[in-house]
Amino acid sequence: MPVRNEEEHIRASLQSLLDQSYPLSEYEIIIIDGRSSDRTKQIIEEIRNRHPQVRCLDNPPGIVPTGMNIGIRAARGKIIVRVDGHSIYPRDYAANCIKSLEETKADNVGGPCMTVAADESLSARLVAAVLSNPFGVGNSKFRTSREEGYVDTVPFGAFRREVFARVGMYNEKLVRNQDIELNARIRQSGGKIYLTPVLTTQYYPVKSFLNLLKRTFKTSQWHIFTLRENRDSLGRRHLVPILFLVLLMLLLPASLVSNTALAFLIGTLCAYFLTGFYFSLPSRSKDDWGVALVQPFATFCFHMAYGVGTLFGLRYVFKQPSVMRVRAGSFKPVHELSSCFKARELKSASQNAWPMTCPLCSERDAQYRFSERGYNLMQCSRCHLFYIDPYPRAVENHHKIVESYAYDDLKILDAKNYYAAEVGFYRDYFGPISEQVNGASSFLDVGCGTGRLLELFVGRNLYRAGIELNHSRAAFARSVAKCEIFEQPIEEFSGQRFDAIGLINVLSHIPSLAGLFVKLKSLLSDHGKLIIKTGELQSHVKKAALHDWGIPDHLQFLGADTAAFIAQNYGLHLQICKRIPLSEEIFSLNTWTAKGRNPLRNAVKSAAVHLPGALRVMRSCYEFIHHESVMSSFLVFTNY
Ligand SMILES: [Zn+2]
Repeated sequence: MPVRNEEEHIRASLQSLLDQSYPLSEYEIIIIDGRSSDRTKQIIEEIRNRHPQVRCLDNPPGIVPTGMNIGIRAARGKIIVRVDGHSIYPRDYAANCIKSLEETKADNVGGPCMTVAADESLSARLVAAVLSNPFGVGNSKFRTSREEGYVDTVPFGAFRREVFARVGMYNEKLVRNQDIELNARIRQSGGKIYLTPVLTTQYYPVKSFLNLLKRTFKTSQWHIFTLRENRDSLGRRHLVPILFLVLLMLLLPASLVSNTALAFLIGTLCAYFLTGFYFSLPSRSKDDWGVALVQPFATFCFHMAYGVGTLFGLRYVFKQPSVMRVRAGSFKPVHELSSCFKARELKSASQNAWPMTCPLCSERDAQYRFSERGYNLMQCSRCHLFYIDPYPRAVENHHKIVESYAYDDLKILDAKNYYAAEVGFYRDYFGPISEQVNGASSFLDVGCGTGRLLELFVGRNLYRAGIELNHSRAAFARSVAKCEIFEQPIEEFSGQRFDAIGLINVLSHIPSLAGLFVKLKSLLSDHGKLIIKTGELQSHVKKAALHDWGIPDHLQFLGADTAAFIAQNYGLHLQICKRIPLSEEIFSLNTWTAKGRNPLRNAVKSAAVHLPGALRVMRSCYEFIHHESVMSSFLVFTNY
C-alpha cells in the first residue's frame, strides 16, 4: 500500500485489510509511506503497535512506482496484492485475489472500482457521477463494467511475484499511469489481465469537483510521456478528449468566418450535450436531479481538462516530466519523522544508509530545496553543502557503475569532434589551472576523463598522472596524454605525493566527501596545491535554474561557505576562491564555438555566435531570472 497524506481514509482502509478472511498469519501488510506531512504516519504507528504484521517502509521519492517497487522488493510472499490507502476492501478480497489468480492463470487480476461519493455534497456526488459514467470515462471497463473477462488493464490488482521478474518492476519515471504501463508490458510478454466483479472495491475520489479537474489536468499531462515509454500503454479512449479539444479549437475561429463551420460547431456541441443528458439518466433514476442537470456540463469541463492536459503533455515528447514529490515548505527533515521505523525495516527499505547525514560533515539537520528524478536536493545546515537524498547507491556500487559505464563520447573515436564541450571548457580554464601548476614538479588529475587536461601539459618538465575509473576513458586518456592513468578509486590510491592535484568538474560525482579530503591532504606535498573546479549553489537556488541538474550523477554541489569549511576542517589554506556565474560558462564564446556531434546544434550555435550580442543577451536573460544562483567555483587550497 503506497500512501502519502492519507490521514482521512487510511484507518478504515487498513482496518478492512486486517479484517480479511484470509488467515492473518499468512499475509503481511506493507505500507510504503511517501513521507506524509499529515497524521498518516501516527495513525499507521498506532495500528502497528497492535498488529505486528503491518510493516511500514520509507519511500523517499514519495511517488507510487518507487513505493510499489520498495514494497515488492521487501515483500516475503509469493503473491503481491496492490492496495491503496483510500479504498475499503471486502472481507474476502485477499482470498478472492488468490483464488482468481489460480483459476484464471492470469498474471494480474483486479476488480471494478465502484466510485462512491466521498460525502453528501453536490460537488462530491458530481465527481462520482462523472467518474462512473461511460460518457465521462469511455470504455474504461474497470470503472463501468460489472462483467467478468480478460481486459487491457485493471487498477491495483493482484500479481504473482514472478511477473515482476519477467516483465520488470514498475516504471519509476511514471508518476502517473504506472499501472497502465506495467499492464501493457504484461500483455506484450504474452500475459493476461483479468477483471472480475468478485474483486469489486469501493473507491472514494476527491470531494471537490475543481480538484478533480486539477487532478485530471495533471494526470493527462503524463499521457504523451507514457506513450513514449510504451506505445501499447494507452488505449484510444485516452486520446479522444484531446481530439475533441483540437476539433473545437479548429471550429471556433473557423466559425467566425464560415457559416458551415458555425453550423458544424453548434451541431457538434448539441450532439455532445444531448448525449451527455442521455447518459446522466442513471443519476435521474436515482432521483438526484441536481447532479443529473449539471452532469453533462461537468463532464464537458472534465473532458476539456483532460484534453488540455494531454495537449500540454506534448512538451514531454522530448523530455521527462519532473518527478516532484513535495512542495517546498511541506517537507519534514528525515530525523523528525515519527519513530514508526525500526532499524530492521530500514535495511530492507533500501540499501542506502538512512537517514541521510551530510556526506561532508555528518550533520543530520538539512533543508529541503527541490527534487529531481525522485531524489531530494538537501542543504546541510552546518557546512552548507548541497547533497542528494537518498544516495543512489552504496559507494562500492557507485565505483563499479562508473567503471563499466559506456560513455557517449567514447562511441565515436574522433578526436577532433567528440568532446567539444570539454575542449571549449579547457580553452577557458587551462590558463588559471596552468598558473597554479607552474613551478610544480608533479601533477595528479583526479577523474581525468579522456585525458584532455593532462594532454595540455605534454612537453612540460612535469611528472603527470591521472586517475580514471572508467576503463575505456582511461585507455583513451593514456593514448592522448601519454602518461600513467590509474584505474582505481582515489580512496584506494596510494603512492608518491604530488605538488599539484586537480579535481576539475569531478567533486560532484565523488561519494563520501569526508574521506576524500583526508585522502587528498595525505597525497599533497608540503605547500602543494589542490585545484578544484566545481559547481556551487546559493541558498536561494530554484530548480528551474538549470534545465537538467544531472541528479543522481551529481551527488553534491558546494554551498556558499563550504569551501571555507573544508579548509578549516582538513588543515588546508583556501588561497583562491573565485566564483563566476554558471551563465558565463554556459554562454561563453569558447563553449559556443566548440563543435559537437549534433549538426543541428552546431548550426544553431554558430548562428548565435555570429549574431552580434546574442550570447550577451542570452546570458543577461538567464541571470535576470536566476540571480546568480548557480556558480562555477574555482578553488585553490594549499597544504600547510
Ligand atoms: Zn554538512
